Amino acid sequence: MQRENIQYIKCFLQKKMQELQDVAGSTLQRLKNNGGKHSDVCDEAAYEYSKSIELAVRGKEINMMLDIQETLMRIDRGLYGICDHCSQKIPEERLNSAPLSKLCLQCQIDFENRNRIVGRRFTQKVNLKNAS
Ligand SMILES: [Zn+2]
Repeated sequence: MQRENIQYIKCFLQKKMQELQDVAGSTLQRLKNNGGKHSDVCDEAAYEYSKSIELAVRGKEINMMLDIQETLMRIDRGLYGICDHCSQKIPEERLNSAPLSKLCLQCQIDFENRNRIVGRRFTQKVNLKNAS
């Protein structure tokens, strides 16, 4: 991938990181300000429910921020665009559509297939355990 494209992706990711940090900061402040001020039980339950949903969304955003941070480190270390598993170059089209990619498409498919098999095995074990 050309240096200008990598620089463009780096700027894009830094901007996205800043947006996520701003949202996270305002969410935390809002949760601190609103906590425990409901006299009605139903209002309190509704607040707790919406708080749990908001925290779940923030959890996903935290994972996104960690992925962005890791990608920015890969760019700075000259590892961006190199597959973590097979060390082959990741095609530019893939990086343009999925800039956080650490694996080439084939390694990503293999990884997801392995996880699917492991997940299935775990589910079968749980089901067997529950059946006895
Ligand atoms: Zn690969």
